[in-house]
Amino acid sequence: MNSKLQHDLDNFENILEKTKQQGIDFLSNIDNIPTSNTYSINPKTELNELGLGSIEALKEFNERLAPLMVSSSGPRYWGFVTGGSTPASIVGDWLASVYDQNTQSVTSQGGNSALIEFETINLLLQLLELPDSFLGGFVTGATMSNFTSLAVARQWFGKQYGKDFAKNGISETINILTATPHSSSIKSLSMLGVGSQNYTVIKTIEGNREALDIADLEEKIKALNGKPFILISSAGTVNTADFDDFETIAKLREKYNFWWHIDGAFGGFAAVSEKYRHYVKGWEGADSITIDCHKWLNVPYESAFYLVKKEHVNLQIETFQNSNAPYLGNPLENFNYLNVLPENSRRLRALPVWFSLKAYGKEGFRDLVEDSSALALHFANALIENDFELLAPIRLNNVCFTLKGEHNQEKVTPFLSALNDTGKVFMTPTVYQNKKGIRASFVNWRTNEEDIRIVIKEMKDLLEII
Ligand SMILES: *Cc1c(COP(=O)(O)O)cnc(C)c1O
Repeated sequence: MNSKLQHDLDNFENILEKTKQQGIDFLSNIDNIPTSNTYSINPKTELNELGLGSIEALKEFNERLAPLMVSSSGPRYWGFVTGGSTPASIVGDWLASVYDQNTQSVTSQGGNSALIEFETINLLLQLLELPDSFLGGFVTGATMSNFTSLAVARQWFGKQYGKDFAKNGISETINILTATPHSSSIKSLSMLGVGSQNYTVIKTIEGNREALDIADLEEKIKALNGKPFILISSAGTVNTADFDDFETIAKLREKYNFWWHIDGAFGGFAAVSEKYRHYVKGWEGADSITIDCHKWLNVPYESAFYLVKKEHVNLQIETFQNSNAPYLGNPLENFNYLNVLPENSRRLRALPVWFSLKAYGKEGFRDLVEDSSALALHFANALIENDFELLAPIRLNNVCFTLKGEHNQEKVTPFLSALNDTGKVFMTPTVYQNKKGIRASFVNWRTNEEDIRIVIKEMKDLLEII
């Protein structure tokens, strides 16, 4: 063994102890760590001939790289839709590295850790009150979940023409209908060879909505003259957390032949609360669903899962199977994740989620969703009282707003930039209904009313000088 490795092995406990203490220091101070900084490094350093060993590497990391870290898992990082990491999720994440399983199979002599993934998906279905007619698996994020789901949808589409696109490539124009897709679905269409421009836009409901207009959807379906299509629908749009009408879409399936995908990256969590469950009523009828775990479930990156109806498992295997040989045996019995999703080797990504669900239960996540949504409302009310205006009503956890008055439109960008520069809060810019706006998304378990007070104060101070 190399001497540096040997030295590390002999000092493993000390190394982990130091690392643990560093983790505790960061996490217990996270409220005070800025949400942004201007620190930078020159990334072109020379690779050393002799290694430093872990302790020296940790020292160098702390001196040069750690200052790059912002409190993106802290309570005032409201840009994008950014979750944090709960204690249980970090336990699971650390242990996933410690055990370092290559999670693929449920029946292999080389290890059955995929059983933990099965169990975790089953717990998630219970959390979201979904039936076990879905087969699920973990991927890195909602982007890959959309990709995985839409890849199976693509195979389904070919089958409607008696074609096997996975084997022979795409030979028919694939019809995609969607109203307000997340950019990652469009990226998936590009990666899947469907084409990022090859979709038909459904109108949204009139009156400040991002949900699809059912009458327009039906018109566009009729224009397809009975041809199959893929519908990409939304459970929670990023600007205004709007939801498509799943009950009505479910009814349309009785009349028309389509693959129904729902992107519920964060909005799917509406299902955990009585207050918001009506938003996703009927979603169990979908063929595939995307959910992120590194957002509202508050597990560390990278974690999301897809759900695809079990009845489509053969399409899924045709799409992802890792050899040209025909798949042997019953795919559900002889199950191996490498045949149903993009990656072959993969870490035990289910573990942080398993720990979170066990540690906090249904009530933990119900409280989190309800608290986040209450905070969004609280923030929105404070904005209205302080010379801001909402661009959309608060449906769940996202606040989309701007500076009051048309004449202030040009100030939105410098205002947000100055606000983010304070390091007290991070929000992201948007354009909504042709207006420059700002988005704040509440999903972090640590956020509380005091954070809102801190942010409103910063915003008021800035308004005076901008
Ligand atoms: C965040 C998000 C995505 C992309 O998720 P990643 O985890 O960043 O890959 C997709 N759809 C919606 C609705 C999202 O909010």
